[in-house]
Amino acid sequence: MKRILITGGAGFIGSHLCERLLNEDHEIICLDNFFTGARKNIMHLMNNHRFELIRHDITREIFLEVDEIYNLACPASPVHYQYNPIKTIKTSVMGAINMLGMAKRIRAKILQASTSEVYGDPTEHPQKESYWGNVNPIGKRSCYDEGKRCAETLFVDYHAQNKVRIKIIRIFNTYGPRMQPDDGRVVSNFIIQALQNKPITIYGDGNQTRSFQYVDDLLEGMIRFMDTEDSITGPINIGNENEFTIRELAEMVMELTNSQSEIIFLPLPENDPVQRKPDISYARELLNWEARVQLREGLTKTIAYFDSLLKTL
Ligand code: NAD
Ligand code: UDP
Repeated sequence: MKRILITGGAGFIGSHLCERLLNEDHEIICLDNFFTGARKNIMHLMNNHRFELIRHDITREIFLEVDEIYNLACPASPVHYQYNPIKTIKTSVMGAINMLGMAKRIRAKILQASTSEVYGDPTEHPQKESYWGNVNPIGKRSCYDEGKRCAETLFVDYHAQNKVRIKIIRIFNTYGPRMQPDDGRVVSNFIIQALQNKPITIYGDGNQTRSFQYVDDLLEGMIRFMDTEDSITGPINIGNENEFTIRELAEMVMELTNSQSEIIFLPLPENDPVQRKPDISYARELLNWEARVQLREGLTKTIAYFDSLLKTL
């Protein structure tokens, strides 16, 4: 049994990770400032004596004794990370410094939830870990993209300079139950719009692509990577290789919900990446991992979640 700290543990991915690691008999400290996370995401875990919740902001120092840290705290949807861009950078950068400082002091292993956004609007396709990316440093997405890039730099420097045991994973678009209904991401937006027979809002012409990964697949890759030997630091891509246009996603969601919605086209946000698909050769070779849940199956589960959520509102 390990004592594991999950920052951002009350968020979408974090709450699933808390649940999964509790089920594996570990002791979990969930740390969150509830910016985009919610108490209801972890309410069902509160009675477990191995689960502890701390309300804290990772831009401030904290002293805890743990074996492993999963650093997930950071708003992840464009709407939320652009709401207070300075705070987003502080969370990525100061948060990384605080968590790495703690990992150094207590000799904990620490995993950083990095992102496919470090590749920006990629000119290489699919994206390999060796690709340096094509990121605008002064655009609307920069607070997130550059914050996450700087966090990766901090991780590798703490490893090189202070021998901190680090793991960097680059997560590609992930979806599933407990995504916030109001966070503006494409999967939650389309499902809610379709279930309510409201117009489906495609930004741009809908020919931009993304590769959507179901949350359970991500957790499997993340935990397997955390368990690799100390010499392995990443970065490693964790994502589903199947690429869809946003228009195809809209059509699949409408079919699965029997929706009467119409599709409307709205302006494409600034610097919206044209295409995104992970090269997962490294994850396959190192972890014997690949995404198993296909889009249709994952969407069906996510639709059931939002369907019951909407009935309670
Ligand atoms: P989320 O917004 O649901 O979760 C983020 C959590 O971090 C929330 O609970 C929020 O309250 C908390 N948080 C934010 N700022 C904080 C701070 N300063 N101090 C403490 N807690 C703070 O998002 P998510 O989709 O679950 O993403 C989790 C992590 O995975 C993020 O780091 C994100 O960048 C990364 N990621 C997610 C995706 C995806 O598609 N969901 C893709 C790539 C990377
Ligand atoms: N998108 C869309 N309609 C929406 C929300 C998003 O067409 O209601 C598009 C968005 O422009 C982008 C893609 O869907 O091209 C994925 O957007 P999301 O915000 O989910 O993630 P990210 O852009 O960070 O990959």
